[in-house]
This record gives sequence, C-alpha cells and structure tokens, in this order.
Amino acid sequence: MKRYDYIIVGAGAAGSVVAARLGENPALRILVLEAGPTDNTIFVRMPAALSYPLTDERRIWSFETGPEAALDGRSMTHVRGRMLGGSGSLNGMVYVRGNPRDFDAWAAAGLPDWSYAHCLPYFKKLERYDGGENEYRGGSGPMAITTLKADLPVFQAFLEAGQQAGHRLNPDYNAFAQEGVHPYQANIENGVRASGGRAYLRPALSRGNVELKLDALVRRVTLAGRRATGVEYEVGGTVMHAEAEREVILCGGAFNSPHLLLLSGIGPRAELAERGIAAAIDLPGVGKGLQDHVAVSVRYRARRKGVSPAVDLNLLQMAMIGARWMLFRSGLGATNLWEVGSFFRSSDAIEYANIQHEFLPMLGELMHGKVNIEEGFQYQTCLMRPRSKGALTLRSADPRVLPQIVLNYLSDPDDRRELIDGVRHTDEIIQQRGWDDIRGEALTPGLRSQTDDEVLAWLKQNVGTQYHPCSSCRMGIDDMAVVDNEGRVRETEGLRVVDASVMPQITSGNLHCPTTMIAEKLADRIAGNPPPAALDLPYEDQVR
Ligand SMILES: Cc1cc2nc3c(=O)[nH]c(=O)nc-3n(C[C@H](O)[C@H](O)[C@H](O)COP(=O)(O)OP(=O)(O)OC[C@H]3O[C@@H](n4cnc5c(N)ncnc54)[C@H](O)[C@@H]3O)c2cc1C
Repeated sequence: MKRYDYIIVGAGAAGSVVAARLGENPALRILVLEAGPTDNTIFVRMPAALSYPLTDERRIWSFETGPEAALDGRSMTHVRGRMLGGSGSLNGMVYVRGNPRDFDAWAAAGLPDWSYAHCLPYFKKLERYDGGENEYRGGSGPMAITTLKADLPVFQAFLEAGQQAGHRLNPDYNAFAQEGVHPYQANIENGVRASGGRAYLRPALSRGNVELKLDALVRRVTLAGRRATGVEYEVGGTVMHAEAEREVILCGGAFNSPHLLLLSGIGPRAELAERGIAAAIDLPGVGKGLQDHVAVSVRYRARRKGVSPAVDLNLLQMAMIGARWMLFRSGLGATNLWEVGSFFRSSDAIEYANIQHEFLPMLGELMHGKVNIEEGFQYQTCLMRPRSKGALTLRSADPRVLPQIVLNYLSDPDDRRELIDGVRHTDEIIQQRGWDDIRGEALTPGLRSQTDDEVLAWLKQNVGTQYHPCSSCRMGIDDMAVVDNEGRVRETEGLRVVDASVMPQITSGNLHCPTTMIAEKLADRIAGNPPPAALDLPYEDQVR
C-alpha cells in the first residue's frame, strides 16, 4: 500500500483545481483517483462536437433519476462526465459566475466567509478573461474565458428582440450587473475546450508530486474511528488501498460524493441500516437537499432556409469543418453554439433575475446525444433558483450499483409559477419585430394565451435537467449540513468534500465556474494559506 499526504477522489472540475493548488507545494505527495479515462479525444477538445461525449459509454456516468411525482411520474437520464476533467469535459462550456447576491445569501445563512466579497478574489484568481483584467475580472488565471462573437443573423435577432422586449444589452454579465441580453462567455481557449483537467491538472502532473490514476473507481473511504485513513479503490477488477496521512478529499460531484459517504457508513443511520451498512457516523443530511436547474425549450421553426448553422451537413462539409478546426482552430468547430443568452426576472415581484436563457440557433436535442439538426431556434428557459429539493439514497452496499435519485422538480408551487411566467415572457420576446424575418411556426403554439394549467401540463411533459445537481453535502451550520465552511465533513477528521455538492444553495447560472471558485477557495484553506482580503465591490442587485 502506498502512502500519500492527500488523496483526491475525482479529477473533475473541483478535483483538478485542488490537486493542482496543493501540488504547488513540492513537499506534498498527492494521489488523484479518477474512475474514467483520459479526455484525449477530438470530440472533447472540439467545442462544437459537444454532443458526442454524451453518448461515449466509457466517458459518462448515466444516472437514472425519478420517478418525479410532480412531472406525472417521469424518469430522466442524468449524464455526468467520467474522465479527466469530469463533467467539465462534456459540458456546454457556458461560463457564468452566478449572481453576486447568491453568495451574500450563503453568508446570511451562517457562512460569513462565503459572501460575494470573499468569493470575488477567487473568481478573479481562476479566470483569464479575454475582455482583460479589471476590478471585477481576472486576466491571468488558469481558466481561459472567451467572449463569443454572436455574429450570425440569428444571434443578432435574439439580441435585438430581447432589447425590443425591454431587456438591456449587457456586455459583461459576470461583473457589476447580471440582468439583460448578452453574448455568452465560454470556457474555450483559442478554439479548444478549456476544462479544469486541461487548465489545472495536466500542468500539475508534470511537476512530479501529483500522481493521477485513471480508470480507478473509489469504492469507499476507510476510517479508523472518526478519522479517514485512506480509500479502497478498484482498477480492472482488482481492489487496492491507498493511505492518506493528512486528508481524503472527495471531489466526485453532487451524485458520487454523497454516494461514497453513504458507502463508507457516513450518513443517516436508519437508511444505512436498511442496506446492511453500520453507520460509523450518523449524519442525517448526506444526500438530502439535492438541487438542480430545471429547464424547458421554447422552439420555433425558421420561415426560410439558411438560418441555422450545421443543417443537412454532408460528409464533405463535415470534413471541411473538421479540417478548418484542426488547422486553424476556427470556424463552426470552434464554437459551443450557445453564443447568446439572457438573465431576467419572471415578474416584478421577483427581486433579482430568476430565469436564464440559453439560446440555440437550431432545432435538435444537442444535450441529449441526439443531433437531428433542423432549421429553427430554441430558447432554453431555465429556472435559476428552484426551491424544490430532492434526495439521493443507496440502492445497494455494492459500490457499482448507482444510487436512487429523485429531484422533485416543480414540486414547489413557486417554482411552477416562476417557470410558467418565464415561458410566457419568452414567447412574448419571440413576437418582437427583431424575429419577423426568421420566425416560422411555433412548435408549441399558444404559450402566451393558454391557461396556467395548460402551460403546466406542457411543462410536466417537457422540462428536463440543465445538468446542474448540487447541494447534496451542503455546507452550513444547521443539523442537516454535511460539511463546515471549510468543506470538512462534520463529526469526522481528515475528510472533506470539495465539489458542487457543498453549495449551500444553487447559484443563478451554470455551475462549472462557481464549483471552480469553491475549489480554489477551499484549496487555499487546506494548504493553510492566509485568506486574501475581501473585495467589497458594489453590484446591481445588492441589498443595502
Ligand atoms: C451535459 C452537461 C452540460 C453542462 N453544461 C454546463 C455549462 O454549459 N456550463 C457550466 O458552467 N456547467 C455546465 N455543466 C455543469 C458542470 O460541468 C458541473 O456542475 C461541474 O463540472 C461540477 O463539478 P464537480 O467537480 O462537482 O464534478 P465533476 O466535474 O462531474 O467531476 C467529478 C469527477 O469525479 C469522478 N468520480 C466520481 N466518483 C468517483 C469514484 N467513486 N471514483 C473515482 N472517481 C470518481 C468522476 O468520474 C468525475 O470525473 C454541465 C454538466 C453536464 C453533465
């Protein structure tokens, strides 16, 4: 058995950051165990190929979730990345910090050192923004952020119609103000996907004190009393052990980290007993309070041809796109396609933006592994701060059996109200004159005129996940919190969780960036570095 100072479980968005930052101290020996293979395929690197890794069985976890009581009992498939870079190697690359007010709400819930002012230095530290460094933005961090060109007429129509409907054009939604329509920023560097794996972990491996084992499935954390001593893991059917002299750090993501805690006997005692596991530590909150962004697409056909990119591509055209990308890292291959979007309030009663648009300039289920592209466009309309909460529980003590997961989407009446209003307003935006030249038939006619019950019936059948599970090992100070403000698992020693599962509440936007920020901040605490001074800058939605 080999001994390390730190064992990190998972080489995803957070694990890559923690490994790289701890590895800056050459005296430390760090082991990273990743269940999946390398990210070294063109389908991961080329942004426009993003639908391909979603069906690459070697590189995904495929969780079946549900049945969802408030969605007529529907079940869904929840894909997660299982490779170097984790979900950051198959995600949509859309780069959003979240609303500053989200972090001030974390602070108000008993975590004062997680206010926006405390998080901002880490947002700046992680990013290399192509708009350049300023008081809000970072210009020299590991993670490249590219502002997308949005120069196709269909993107311009989106931006114009949004403004005609009363939403301002916001050049940088990751700075003073979030609300408005905007070109998106993306985790793309010179036409290539930028993930934590590429930006942080790969460079760290060359230093020699960070060891990465791929295709290594961690089965459980080993404990001596309340102290984590290491992990049991499996490579090619052989079970092995590794020992951690300082800490085991779980970075497996919002489904796998709570799953591993439960498999290790850390969780609700009665639930563990049902699966024949003796609770080493009775922690009722493990797997509870699970949140996710629920979203639905409002789709229209185009009234003419030539609106959407990548429709009816023949082999030669696909080869040309691939060749241009290989040679120059430019052209259609270099974009993630989500080039514009917006943040807005679903009604005047809402205090700050609660709906996000991610806009696709085509019809087709890009994020569900089906690439049937047709002329048209779709406004993916997402509820950003759902109140509905779900849970993850063990199905079996066998680490290979995936857990039972229910998200309880739209079970909260306010969630239903806000998404119904958000969808109606979306359809109003599409009626603006900016769309007159492009707008064809509505694939869901009547969203503006239908009753609430009719819109809800449609939502129940059509909402899906935006792939943002979090908060299943929540940071906090109440009895259901699983970790403290530094990611330490309560009632244990030498064990932390550092990934999307520790978010006290879901943030207003996509989760890769805030997860990276959390990892930067907690890596600093683990390394014992003094925290940077809080950066108390004003922001638009601040409560004064
Ligand atoms: C399809 C999809 C689209 C998305 N689109 C966007 C987007 O456009 N923008 C955005 O900001 N966010 C997006 N996200 C979300 C974002 O990628 C995640 O929130 C983020 O990656 C979470 O980081 P994490 O470190 O918590 O987990 P992950 O990045 O998922 O990393 C967890 C890692 O741990 C490994 N692991 C888990 N269990 C074990 C085990 N037992 N043993 C060994 N290794 C293990 C996994 O294989 C994985 O590599 C998307 C996610 C998905 C799935």
